[in-house]
Amino acid sequence: MAGQARGKVTIDIDECKGCGLCVESCPPKCLHLAAELSPYGFHPARYNGQNCTACGICFYCCPEPGAITVYRIRAKGKTFAAALGGEHAAAV
Ligand code: SF4
Ligand code: SF4
Repeated sequence: MAGQARGKVTIDIDECKGCGLCVESCPPKCLHLAAELSPYGFHPARYNGQNCTACGICFYCCPEPGAITVYRIRAKGKTFAAALGGEHAAAV
């Protein structure tokens, strides 16, 4: 079931090892493994571009620090703020 888009995620392909845990764990199924290989020879996770709820489950499932950053839409202005991961995210 697709959720309402309240966030987005970015994947650092230099950190992602293509294990697929985030893909399997995402409730609205908005992640997939890319067909292309990363510079390190993995199929990295990729955001489909819609339906992310910013729940953070993918972030907590990922075994690779720094691979996933989750952004939440700010209440005003429709801008995104890093919530989990990323250098500007709040401490978790
Ligand atoms: S934050 Fe939640 S909804 Fe968004 S990609 Fe990760 S698991 Fe899916
Ligand atoms: S869980 Fe982390 S390492 Fe595994 S595919 Fe997702 S982003 Fe890549």
